[in-house]
Amino acid sequence: MKLLKDNYQRSIDYLRVSITDRCNLRCIYCMPSGGLIPIEHKEILTYEEIIRVISISSKIGVRKIRITGGEPLVRRNVVYLIESIKNIDGIEDLSLTTNGILLSRYAEELKHAGLDRVNVSLDTLNPERYRMITRGGDLDFVLKGIEAIERVGLNPIKINMVPIRGINSDEIKDFAKLTLKSPYQVRFIEYMPFGSEEMWSTEKFISTEEIKSIVESIDTLYPVKMKKSGPARYFRLENGLGVIGFISPISNHFCDECNRLRLTADGKLRPCLFSETEVDLKPALRGGASDDEIKRLLKLSIEIKPEGHNIDPEKLALMIKNREFCRRPMSRIGG
Ligand code: SAM
Ligand code: SF4
Repeated sequence: MKLLKDNYQRSIDYLRVSITDRCNLRCIYCMPSGGLIPIEHKEILTYEEIIRVISISSKIGVRKIRITGGEPLVRRNVVYLIESIKNIDGIEDLSLTTNGILLSRYAEELKHAGLDRVNVSLDTLNPERYRMITRGGDLDFVLKGIEAIERVGLNPIKINMVPIRGINSDEIKDFAKLTLKSPYQVRFIEYMPFGSEEMWSTEKFISTEEIKSIVESIDTLYPVKMKKSGPARYFRLENGLGVIGFISPISNHFCDECNRLRLTADGKLRPCLFSETEVDLKPALRGGASDDEIKRLLKLSIEIKPEGHNIDPEKLALMIKNREFCRRPMSRIGG
């Protein structure tokens, strides 16, 4: 099938689906300290609605699905959803992003249900600091979760770390060194301005350039070509079993290669992570729209996908103060 292209000749074949805005953690860069008022249950798409949207999107060329949240593993019967998506014709790659807290409980079932891969978000290897960053989480659960996905063969294991100056930046090298002992893909993702002033400050931002130079102080980094690298640029340390990826949404944005759409838990199609422009699918889904009408809305969100964002790290603090963008925190969009 011919892939659907947007107005900038990008083929859109990837849909990230947030299945809940709820979470069992409260990460300091993702949730305000007072938490968020959860979206009412009736406003959240049902599994049947999600499966329908994915099934229709597969007919216009979507091949890759990532399930995210909030924390996707807190939603009941998530294994049923995974199994159902796996059975949709045309979906070739099904992955999940999780904080890992519930992974050891679900790893085996997820593997059997047909999940291809898991990304685990982990920002520190220190239990006390983990409790601080996540406002109460227990690192041990995550480490056991990673062991469990290794055991059941949910490979390759990607570990995503968001380095934040003065919070966990002193652990960049420790994370990079994990690839010397394990075949993990350790990916450093730039800290992004979402939510509120409380959750963001320009001083805490560390660019990929700086993160990479810290990693290079361990040893030489050799570029690695990966089949499906997405926005990450990959390298390997001498004798490394795993690889190190850098994802630079702010300093070196990859908008010209962006192949994705996002579906929020409350049914909004979001063509760009950094733009508030959304297409609401729920009224159509709940108002008896035909598959062709839903398809038209999916195509509309592709048509309005902006060419790129223009976030200048120097202007970030002012922009968030003026609430110019990213009012929805990541837990409400689906990172
Ligand atoms: N709860 C799951 C988890 O933590 O993996 C999935 C949802 S979470 C919103 C997805 C990803 O967004 C996580 O890797 C998290 O680190 C990232 N994230 C959240 N807020 C961010 C921010 N302000 N800057 C960069 N990444 C952020
Ligand atoms: Fe929850 Fe993930 Fe956000 Fe942390 S990053 S608060 S685990 S949604």
